[in-house]
Amino acid sequence: MNRRGQHHYVRVCVTGTRVPVYTCYGETLFVGSFSFCTLFFNFCLFCTSTQQQRCTTYNNTPPILYRATEQGSDRETVRTTVGHLLKSRVRVSVVFHGSMHATFARQAIAHSRSTLGTQYQHVPKVELHRHLEGSVRLTTVLDEAIKHNISLPHGPLGEMTPASQLTLEGIRPHIQSLTPFPNLETLLNIFDYTQSTFHNIDVFHRIAKEAVLDAHEEGIRCLELRYAPCFASMPPNQHAFEDVLDAIEDGIDDAQLMLGGPDSIGVGLLCIGVGAMGTEAMDRTTDFYLQHQDKFVGFDMAGAETNVLEHLKCFQRVKDAGGKITCHASEDLDIGVPENALNAVKHLHAERIGHGIQIISDRQVMDVMRDRHIMLEVSVSSNWLTAGVASIEAHPARNLWTHGIPICPNTDDPGIMGIDLNHEWHLWRHTLGFSENDMTAMTLLALDKSFLPFDARERLHNMYFSDLAKQQDKERNNTFAASVAWANAHHQSQIV
Ligand SMILES: [Zn+2]
Repeated sequence: MNRRGQHHYVRVCVTGTRVPVYTCYGETLFVGSFSFCTLFFNFCLFCTSTQQQRCTTYNNTPPILYRATEQGSDRETVRTTVGHLLKSRVRVSVVFHGSMHATFARQAIAHSRSTLGTQYQHVPKVELHRHLEGSVRLTTVLDEAIKHNISLPHGPLGEMTPASQLTLEGIRPHIQSLTPFPNLETLLNIFDYTQSTFHNIDVFHRIAKEAVLDAHEEGIRCLELRYAPCFASMPPNQHAFEDVLDAIEDGIDDAQLMLGGPDSIGVGLLCIGVGAMGTEAMDRTTDFYLQHQDKFVGFDMAGAETNVLEHLKCFQRVKDAGGKITCHASEDLDIGVPENALNAVKHLHAERIGHGIQIISDRQVMDVMRDRHIMLEVSVSSNWLTAGVASIEAHPARNLWTHGIPICPNTDDPGIMGIDLNHEWHLWRHTLGFSENDMTAMTLLALDKSFLPFDARERLHNMYFSDLAKQQDKERNNTFAASVAWANAHHQSQIV
């Protein structure tokens, strides 16, 4: 009850389905599969009053009851309520932005999502696929917007709002993706708002430094960060490519220095060409990469999927210069056909594939990936949020793995998706059913497939990863080669 003696209810629908879905429609937070909804609970935001209401529209299944027991501000109560509801859960979806209650619920969901999987924080991890532009903290977007007087979409309707009126929760639904988008391209639009805050060159120093600090905090000890020079320098900011690269490098160096030195976390930078920007942009990016090849560990192509063969010449130049190649391909459900990944491997000389999950529909392409030992950099939450898969449970990671294709977990865009690598590990372990040994093997395979120089990877192995394989096979020695051999042997044993 508030000061005027009124109850303000947030309506929560609770069901007993095995795999809950959390969806906010107006002021109702649905917990459970919509089609099996059984009960509504109305939680007052200002007191412990709870109403219960049987839902007659849908089937009956045994309900699970949670309730907030603490009094407090509306925000605290919803946070507590949703915190109870989301404990150990894996999927969250908020689709309505029109009420204050939904805003609080969304904040709690985002908080919950960012804290899921903290039990894996102490496990040394490798991440090969993380975009710098997708790693920007929400607080940094807000801070930079305010500092440089940049308008952003805000509030329920997403109206462009002057910097002085922006709030973290007001921009969250438009800067972070907490719910699936219709396709990859729609999600990519979100990047434009983040990009608009790259107002001066110092921002690149800041976001690179924060990205490395955040990765280290997650337990990552070998990180490949990638960014697209053409995207970073797009109008209206139009920074010089060299200035952006220098700022990013300094930011990475500063973070490593703060953490105790370059071996506190190994970091390699990948240069991305955006195929959908056209051949001129691809050529310019390739020229830039080749001029600064010593500062990058590899080359990638990303953005909305195109026919990868259109950019054959660029990749040939990178290959001729001895560059390492990965390529986003077969990611999008509609246009990411399996041939894209196949062509990237056969004609663009890709040693790894970004995503590649749509090859699941073509056994012959799967065989090629297996036989050539091409690693797929898989990002489960990202694939779900860009509608590449219908649900987390439907993700093909397990089938790819048991087919004999090396894969590894990644975040893709932790800032934009409100996740971290520990969150992804939680999904892989508890929703997709990968064992602890599977995760260890994938970590060691990712270290083996990383584009960081061999001596850097070996040093990181000896510092952080050597005990992982040793724990599984006490007879083995501690060398990098022995760890990778164990990982491959374990993978072989999983093939069905
Ligand atoms: Zn990506």
